[in-house]
Amino acid sequence: MVSTIMNYPLTLNHLLERMNTVFPKREIVTRRPDRSLHRTTYAETYHRARLLASALQKAGIQHGERVATLSWNHWAHLECYYGIPAVGAVMHTLNLRLGPTDIAYIANHADDKIIIVDDVLLPLYDQFKDDLGEHRVIVFPFAGEIPEGMESYEDFLLTGSNDFEYPDLDEMDGCAMCYTSGTTGNPKGVIYAHRSMVLHSLVGATPDMLGFSQHDVILPVVPMFHANAWGIPYGGTMVGAKIVFPGPFMDAESLLDLFESEQVTFSGGVPTVWMAIIQALEKEPERWDLVKGMRTVVGGSAAPPSMIKRFEKFDIDVLHAWGMTEMSPLGTVAAVKPHLQAGGREIYEKYKFSQGYQAPFVDLRHVDDLGEQQPWDGEAMGELEVRGPWVASSYYNNPDAQDRWSDDGWFKTGDIVTIDDEGYVQITDRSKDVIKSGGEWISSVDLENAIMGHPSVSEAAVIALPHPKWDERPLACVVLMEGASLTKEELDEHLSAEFAKWQLPDSLVFIDEVPKTSTGKFQKLTLRRQFEDFQWDDAGTASGAAAAE
Ligand code: AMP
Repeated sequence: MVSTIMNYPLTLNHLLERMNTVFPKREIVTRRPDRSLHRTTYAETYHRARLLASALQKAGIQHGERVATLSWNHWAHLECYYGIPAVGAVMHTLNLRLGPTDIAYIANHADDKIIIVDDVLLPLYDQFKDDLGEHRVIVFPFAGEIPEGMESYEDFLLTGSNDFEYPDLDEMDGCAMCYTSGTTGNPKGVIYAHRSMVLHSLVGATPDMLGFSQHDVILPVVPMFHANAWGIPYGGTMVGAKIVFPGPFMDAESLLDLFESEQVTFSGGVPTVWMAIIQALEKEPERWDLVKGMRTVVGGSAAPPSMIKRFEKFDIDVLHAWGMTEMSPLGTVAAVKPHLQAGGREIYEKYKFSQGYQAPFVDLRHVDDLGEQQPWDGEAMGELEVRGPWVASSYYNNPDAQDRWSDDGWFKTGDIVTIDDEGYVQITDRSKDVIKSGGEWISSVDLENAIMGHPSVSEAAVIALPHPKWDERPLACVVLMEGASLTKEELDEHLSAEFAKWQLPDSLVFIDEVPKTSTGKFQKLTLRRQFEDFQWDDAGTASGAAAAE
């Protein structure tokens, strides 16, 4: 029997209208390049997003064509988040931390027709513009300067009209696109649908996921070019939260100043950002008066448990979440169930530090090398596979990468996990980072988390290096806290409570910083290359030539 319910399409235009009808006075604050604060409202954003949509229509942008942004997090980027999809085009957020060659590859692959660039990013644009196909460039005067002869975003908006009418959109039409920050092969594009984005926003906002409300003041540190800023721009505005954008300033002090001055209640970013923030807080504990019970979502790579714990003293609750560009990105969030909270501190921590359980509508399973499904017993490891209404079913224009999906249509994440009988996922590694020693697996993530719990350690990455006897053995690459020291013996002692002797790193090297990808993940490939000539001694345990560097 067919239902008697309306067939009402789930499109972002509904959320855009809602900004103006329900929350017109809600504020959006941005730190400009000169550090001054720009303030606007939902009503103004609504008005300007619709002008943008209209201007794009008049400029001849066709249904489904790509309009790119090369921008920091700010109010006009939010206008693009709504204005570009409103006209049926696809907003393509370019990653400004990539090198010019990669950006050119991505913009050409996506066939971007228009690129909206921040004036402060024109030096980057200049490095790849000649490698692009035909396109129009529009410059947003973020710092206020539009070079002679270039088209201003503000002038472009003036070509739009207030009586813009939304075209008919299907909820499965593309609304946005992102390329993966994957470290192997060429970047691959995912096209999100209006429907997937709306569902993702709805579920992301629920209390045991990110838990947004109109009482929140939300500051996305995660860039708007990294997997839709994890759904914060859409989810946050859907509920009517005040939004605060950090602009180009992502350093700990600038962020803490904004947390304080705007009384931020929720933020989100990768662990490296939060490591810097906790270090700044610990250095000057009295300096910032933050909202009590502030929450933050940390993901993109494993959040070290020691870091989550250190935030407790400052009454900041860290929510550990896991996701992927291919998943819009939300997959799991570590909300601790009531009966587990009641189980005492140790049990609480076990779950709080995990990657959490699946979001509603996301299905999970993990399989071994033969594709056999593994039991949810917290022990059996396997590659995590997912499916759901905001999970990609293919990459854009890239049939060769279809092997990332199983024969029965699940997406293979490349993450090695255990899942326990409560449904909590623990990521032990990326499949390419796993250390296979004498036939046994050692989790580089577990070792890193534990090493980063040592008071002398600022950051640590553990990599697998080829070993004559054991196939591979772990090497710990450590960044020390300012003025601190650490010996291999001290490290072993620190780790031996948690790890068996054979799991301990064979050697310890000091580095100035852990190399990072464009989205702030540890780039272990670079470290593996740096230490590829590393020599183990006869016993297989001593540090070689590279260790002394
Ligand atoms: P991206 O597409 O850039 O968001 O990267 C997705 C990948 O980041 C995942 O497949 C994981 O390997 C990693 N990742 C994301 N969140 C976490 C997390 N909380 N813990 C461990 N790894 C994570």
